[in-house]
Amino acid sequence: MSKIKVCALFRPLNQKERADHGDSICIHRVDSESFIFKDEKEDFNFSFDRVFYPGSPQSEVYDFIALPLVQAAVDGINGAIITYGQTGAGKTYTMEGPSIMDGDEKNKGLLPKVVNGLFEAIALSDETASSMIKLSMVEIYMEKVRDLFELVNDNIQIKENRQQGIFLYGATEINVTNCTEALQSLCNGIANRAVGETQMNMASSRSHCIYTFTVQQEITKTRRMKSGKLILVDLAGSEKVEKTGAEGRVLEEAKSINKSLSALGNVINALTGGSPGKANHVPYRDSKLTRILQDVFGGKSQTALLCCCSPSPSNAPESLSTLRFGARAK
Ligand code: ADP
Ligand code: MG
Repeated sequence: MSKIKVCALFRPLNQKERADHGDSICIHRVDSESFIFKDEKEDFNFSFDRVFYPGSPQSEVYDFIALPLVQAAVDGINGAIITYGQTGAGKTYTMEGPSIMDGDEKNKGLLPKVVNGLFEAIALSDETASSMIKLSMVEIYMEKVRDLFELVNDNIQIKENRQQGIFLYGATEINVTNCTEALQSLCNGIANRAVGETQMNMASSRSHCIYTFTVQQEITKTRRMKSGKLILVDLAGSEKVEKTGAEGRVLEEAKSINKSLSALGNVINALTGGSPGKANHVPYRDSKLTRILQDVFGGKSQTALLCCCSPSPSNAPESLSTLRFGARAK
């Protein structure tokens, strides 16, 4: 049994939503953990570990979700932060902010703040002789894993060994020695992702993007290596693709995304819903996504799921479905 921190995050209304429904929103705040979601017909009560209402500064998301995981990674404990939700709900904005390189302290995304936090934390740990932060970036599209630092590596295999746990065999790992270098690498990966999309005529919302930070340190006293991994996942859009009309690749994409998102849900449910003391089967091997996440889930690992939603009545059915996914994960 492990505990997953599940949060709901509502972005501000956008222009189109305002044009269609004015200022009206579906969520009615109760407190920082609960709200009532009203659609046309019904009221639904939801409770999460934290609710980020429209306009909450992104720094609150970092402080509540990411900061403990940054510290954990430096302490040798694995973790993951996953953004889930329909396309346009704010997953990428939560990860990147306005862009990797800009944003003030209030609206910077999780990625630049994680980078900063990791370097700060290793600078403070005084029991280590040396430390190293490695970064890899891959995307999963139609169950194929592509290296975002080296696009020609478009069929990365997931392997496992005793020393490294689960790892991406042959994926580029950049040894980043300072914040600037790490941010530049993230920008390169994101730019490559766009190039790959154009080549394949694919929308980024149809693939999962996976950022892995590995922190390796040598303990001065024992000369032993300590290693912690923090994975950030910007998932493909969770929206239902209209069954009628979708055909060919669009339908194949939708099936593949649906398969991996349900695999994620099943893994989380197996981890959080199992009876205490009883080892129940966790179906990590049902998708590439869950297999990559295998060793940042369960055990001592710490995982956070951010359910990103539009607050607008225009998107009520998808928001409700996202919130239900989150509610089941608790
Ligand atoms: P997704 O990655 O889920 O498809 P995005 O993160 O690209 O969605 O968000 C869509 C748009 O909504 C962004 O271009 C951004 O302008 C806006 N947006 C999303 N989240 C926020 C937020 N927290 N604050 C302000 N604007 C946001
Ligand atoms: Mg996105």
